[in-house]
Amino acid sequence: MGEKQKAILYTQDQIKKRVRELAAKISKDYAGSELIIIGILKGAFIFMADLIREIRVECQVDFVRCASYGTGSESSEKVVMTKDIETAIKGRDVLIVEDIVDTGLTLKYLVEWFKERSPRSLKVCALLDKRKRRKVAFEADYVGFSMEDGFLVGYGLDYGERYRFLPDIYVIKQL
Ligand code: 5GP
Repeated sequence: MGEKQKAILYTQDQIKKRVRELAAKISKDYAGSELIIIGILKGAFIFMADLIREIRVECQVDFVRCASYGTGSESSEKVVMTKDIETAIKGRDVLIVEDIVDTGLTLKYLVEWFKERSPRSLKVCALLDKRKRRKVAFEADYVGFSMEDGFLVGYGLDYGERYRFLPDIYVIKQL
């Protein structure tokens, strides 16, 4: 796979500012509570690391991993969990942190999965939201940036496992 042509969509400064705003809102909403923050591997790892360092609420972290078939750009229809959390969430305030809501299939599946364990509350924070691409109805509670179509890389997001290290978010011009 050769180098892709890409253009900056969100700079690291824009991301930093938006992450701070999201963290301030989350800190206010959960003031006095102890949160369990669940990151979705791998894409959310950088966003989650930045977000929790801005959150002013006591929190524990855990991770979940969902696989979709293939390593290309289209989200798979079938969501399979390949790594579950190791933390008991019954009666706890839980926040799922995701990189992108695209078709909505992954988050719909995960929300149903975690709800069965009776958390006290369950919300979702997504850095990016591609609303028009939904295949199932799903609304995140906290959204960093809403955008149109386009395939994004950088800031934890990959294309075939490349580009995760880039500090800005890019849109790939042609896949
Ligand atoms: P959904 O289940 O909502 O269709 O898919 C969510 C997952 O698809 C995200 O967690 C992400 O891994 C992947 N995804 C969707 N759009 C993009 C994109 O533009 N760039 C990258 N790197 N991954 C994406």
